[in-house]
Formats: sequence, structure tokens, C-alpha cells
Amino acid sequence: MTRVPLISGNWKMNMNHFEAIQLVQKLGYALAKHDFEKVNVTVHPPFTDIRSVQTVIDADRMKFLLGAQNCHSEISGAFTGEVSPAMLSKMAVSYVIVGHSERRHLFGETNEDVASKAVAVYAQDMTPIVCVGETLEQRENGNAREIVETQVRGSLSGLKKNQLENLVVAYEPVWAIGTGVTASVDDAQDMCSHIRNVVESIQKGSGEAVRIQYGGSVKPSNATELMACADIDGALVGGAALDSESFARIVMYQEV
Ligand code: PEP
Repeated sequence: MTRVPLISGNWKMNMNHFEAIQLVQKLGYALAKHDFEKVNVTVHPPFTDIRSVQTVIDADRMKFLLGAQNCHSEISGAFTGEVSPAMLSKMAVSYVIVGHSERRHLFGETNEDVASKAVAVYAQDMTPIVCVGETLEQRENGNAREIVETQVRGSLSGLKKNQLENLVVAYEPVWAIGTGVTASVDDAQDMCSHIRNVVESIQKGSGEAVRIQYGGSVKPSNATELMACADIDGALVGGAALDSESFARIVMYQEV
């Protein structure tokens, strides 16, 4: 089965809407139509920038798909400060990151929370990018595979067969996010292969189909070797996604 790689830029809490417009325009100049032939590319601005970025993407007929970084699991209601998946879907958002390690560790999101968000995202015809990954302590204690398996099983627990097949899982070791330290190619491949086997064991036939990204200090100099791995189908990129040249190079799989 051929899985189309997905490169996603997570802008986190960076870029006001003026800066966001500039960044997506620069990205548009840096990439040509043919760069999108073999790869899907999503950009995930903060909520306040989504409308502006969507307008630029539409007006310039750019090939980027629009993403969000989080959402609530309910469609509407008394949840002050939250953003509903239905609101995102109306703004042409097609991918939503759920369970990013910063949400899990700084905002206390559990696997159950992530599972309900993933269901809610699908209910609005968008695709969740479900993040999992172990801490340094868990890796050093030899528990990484077990921890990640528990996260995968818990976070995907509400999904149906076709949803598991269309899903994106991002393996992001917590110790590699924003640190400049990247997992070795062997460790990244090994964990992504494990995740694929876990998804297959949840639903026969889904393992081959699910796309698995690696995330954690991906940059142009390491993207090529990571994405050449059999079970790595793209990258979730934080820091390097804020620089148009770097992100474009990652999309083009170019080394510097
Ligand atoms: C991320 O935000 O998911 C991420 C992987 O960040 P960075 O690329 O900066 O490590």
C-alpha cells in the first residue's frame, strides 16, 4: 500500500495574524506546484490566525491544507475560551492535532480526553493527528514501548475501522520536542513500526493504512533520513515550521 506522506507545520503559540499571513505567503513562494505531487502539507496556525491564513490559501490557490492545533470535544456549549471542531470545519480546516505533548503535560489532557477529541474531529469530517510519545524518564526506564502503546490504545479507543485507516498518528518523543535532540533513525523507525502493529491489532487492515509521522526537532538536515524509514510517513514540525526556508526544504526533503 502507498501512503502519501504528510508534513505538518505546528506553529504553536507563535505568529500574530499579520505575521501568519507573511509566513504562509513566503511558504507559497518557496514551494512549487510539483513539490506537492507526492506529499500532503498542512499548516497549523493559532486559532486567531486561521481565518487570515485560509483567505490567503484560497486567494492564491495554494496547495497547503489548513490545520488546527487543538479543539474541544463538544460541538457547542458553555465552555468559555474553547473552540469547537464544528467552528474549525466551517473555516476549511481539514486536520486537527489532538493530544500534543504540550497539551498532555501542561494542560493535563488524558488519553480519554484525546479519544473524545479524535471522535469529535471525525464527526466534523476532519482528520485528527493524534500525538503520542514517551518522556525521557520513561525511555531511560525501558518503558517507552509500553507507554506509547497505552497512549495509542487509549487515544484511539472510540474510532471505527475506516477512521483508523484514515488516521494520522504522530510519534513525538517528549524529550525530542523543541530540544534540538532528535530520536535516532533506528529508534524512530522502531517505535513507528510498533505503533503500526498496535493499530493493526486494534483493527485488522488498519495498520498498513494509517499514516505515522515522526516529530521532535525535525529540520532539513535530518528530515530525509527520518522520512526514508519504512514506517515513517512524514513529519510533525514545530520550530523549523516557523522559518519558511526550513519548512520548504523539509517538504522538498532537501538537506542543507
Ligand atoms: C512539535 O511542536 O510537535 C514539535 C515536534 O516541535 P519541534 O519540531 O520544535 O521539536
